[in-house]
Amino acid sequence: MKMNWTKSVDENQEMLWEILSCLISFETVSPPGRNSDGVQAYIYNFLSELGAELEQWEMYSGDSLLVGVIPGKRRKEAKSLILNGHVDVAVVGDTSNWTHPPFELTEENGFLYGRGTADMKGAMACALYSVWLLKKYGVKLGGDLQIQSVIGEEAGEAGTRAILERGYKADFGICMDTSNLEIQGQGGVITAWITVKSKDVFHDAVRRNLIHPEGGIFGASAIEKMQDVIQSLRELEEIWYETKSYSGFERGVNTINPAVIEGGRNAAFVADECKLWVTVHFYPNESYESVIKEVEEHLQKLANKDPWFRENPIQFKWGGKSMIEERGEIFPSAEIEKDSEAVRLLCSVHEVCLSKKANVNMNPSVTDVGWLVHGGIPSVLYGPGCPEEAHSVDECVEMQQLLDYSAILLEFMEKWCI
Ligand SMILES: [Zn+2]
Repeated sequence: MKMNWTKSVDENQEMLWEILSCLISFETVSPPGRNSDGVQAYIYNFLSELGAELEQWEMYSGDSLLVGVIPGKRRKEAKSLILNGHVDVAVVGDTSNWTHPPFELTEENGFLYGRGTADMKGAMACALYSVWLLKKYGVKLGGDLQIQSVIGEEAGEAGTRAILERGYKADFGICMDTSNLEIQGQGGVITAWITVKSKDVFHDAVRRNLIHPEGGIFGASAIEKMQDVIQSLRELEEIWYETKSYSGFERGVNTINPAVIEGGRNAAFVADECKLWVTVHFYPNESYESVIKEVEEHLQKLANKDPWFRENPIQFKWGGKSMIEERGEIFPSAEIEKDSEAVRLLCSVHEVCLSKKANVNMNPSVTDVGWLVHGGIPSVLYGPGCPEEAHSVDECVEMQQLLDYSAILLEFMEKWCI
């Protein structure tokens, strides 16, 4: 018998609100993170009772990764699906402007308020609710359904990357992060620490000998040398502006931002070290690996014509697995394969459920969909919640949108996992 998921989702909705209310009550703010054991235990138990095969392992003390697989009845031949979501939420900070308590689910005029309702515990609740409905109505999918519950996303932590490196895969992935039910790809981001370091250390009094031709000492201030690096990065940014573009993005969003600078010892020294923290944005059809190469090659041209840089090479530390632990992050880009079977199916399920065409476009921000795609899993970003609500004061989500999303997930998994 063909299920009418829209109807079943609607009839059982109390369960969805109960799940979301539990998820919101865990104060999983990141940074600082290290506070997700409670919410992960809740999800573990929830999925365990529904017959999932579960694996949970620690990424940081107090933050673990969780994967639950609902085994399909023909798991070897049938297609599998990943639903990926993060259970950490953005910082709340000063709560005086909140008119609703951030960690208590509150309803008002068809909207649900609380930190994480839009980004993205609402979506995670829909995924868990979907699994619960499958069980309730005795519906067994053909292929495996894999729920990935990730931590640290708000702090650039590479939880999804770690899950994929552990060997989890599927035939298609949906990153359920905030996209207002638009089907999206994304550009990528990588951070880097660029270091200029002098082999020699000089007293401030020697500066005269370094900067004037008759001074006779070969040396330089690392801070002044970093000025050349910054200038050179600005040139590269301009070259990218002139030479690159991608449909769906404004021109010039592929920026190189000199975000933080640290350097020098104190006023009695010529600075012998200077570090620059940059954030590099790139288009969906570029990889962070190719961007690394371009930046390094461009700065190498600067180094080639400068004798000091030849003696004191520019150093790079690219990316990182956590903004908290190592002040570095990567979110790979994700192109959308519009004509793939999975994307076409998702579009058609969306259209049938909502009686309107799905928007297929590019997210201006970054999410874990990049890691799914980087890991070789064709994937899209597709989740409930308005991007403007993510991280906002009085964050909220429309209740009807969560019901719609649950029904779409169920329809999609039934048609895909066959
Ligand atoms: Zn998010």
